[in-house]
Amino acid sequence: MSLSLADLQYLYQLPFNDLIKQAHEVYKKHHDFNTVHLCGSLSIKTGSCPENCAYCPQSVHYKTYVEKESLLDPNDVLKTAVRAKAHGVTHFCLGAAWSYAPKGNAFQKVLEIVRKVHSTGLQVCCSLGSISEEQAQALLEAGCTTYNYNLDTSPEFYPKIITTRTFESRHQTLQIIRKSNLKISCGGILGMGESIEDRLKLIYLISQLSPQPEMVPLNALVAIEGTPLGEKTFIDPLEYIRIVAIARIAMPRTIIAMAAGRYKMSFETQALAFFSGANAIYIGERILTTSTPDLSADLNMLAKLGMNAYENHIDIRQ
Ligand code: SF4
Repeated sequence: MSLSLADLQYLYQLPFNDLIKQAHEVYKKHHDFNTVHLCGSLSIKTGSCPENCAYCPQSVHYKTYVEKESLLDPNDVLKTAVRAKAHGVTHFCLGAAWSYAPKGNAFQKVLEIVRKVHSTGLQVCCSLGSISEEQAQALLEAGCTTYNYNLDTSPEFYPKIITTRTFESRHQTLQIIRKSNLKISCGGILGMGESIEDRLKLIYLISQLSPQPEMVPLNALVAIEGTPLGEKTFIDPLEYIRIVAIARIAMPRTIIAMAAGRYKMSFETQALAFFSGANAIYIGERILTTSTPDLSADLNMLAKLGMNAYENHIDIRQ
């Protein structure tokens, strides 16, 4: 049964221990709670994005540390994917800083990249901006299983973060992706100055997608110098965990990923997030252009917690 926004508001005001206990019960019922999904990611085309997302160092509107790079060579992407797989990654995300996935040769090159990564046995996720129905179909046929397209925040807060596109257009693209049979990865960013209400609305709207997304990446804003949000302080860790717990209760079967910002979280914060229902992390050098913790620190953390990584991708609908 899907939860209403009022249900999520009720959960939010519970004492912290009551909330995470409830989330843990839901988590235990639907997942192997001592096992996590290891995800990898690679920016296959970096920088010069025409959108003005206030958190993003890849926007052409801001002067940041990011150096632009054109679309990578498929064989170089393949080498990175093979390395990621050797580290235990099962799910590999290809990100590109575009508002719309390109047409013509550039898109053919993307399809070649997808085919090569798919040939390694990794689950391929693409994050290429808005796409047409034909492109979604072509990606699916090339071996892409999941498309990442985040709602970012609530519809009310959205115009304070991005003005070059609308929240409604995001929703429309999600419908196109759904029609194609690609699975959806859809999350957001916490700590951009949004209210609690905005956070709950984001989780509510994501949970209302039907069927619910395969994966929900929950990013904690990493403030980047040169962007309009460059001065923001990092989100209170317990607030982040509350949202993880509420997302877990609202979406019992979904994979909930601790995404960008995890490298700024203590080991203890991450342990509590795992307890509350987070069951995926991005490992390796970076999540697109944002740092991740050191790989050996991650493996050490999982060992200390007695946690394992899934050896194969698990389809949440089976
Ligand atoms: S978040 Fe994506 S769409 Fe927004 S500026 Fe960055 S690369 Fe472009």
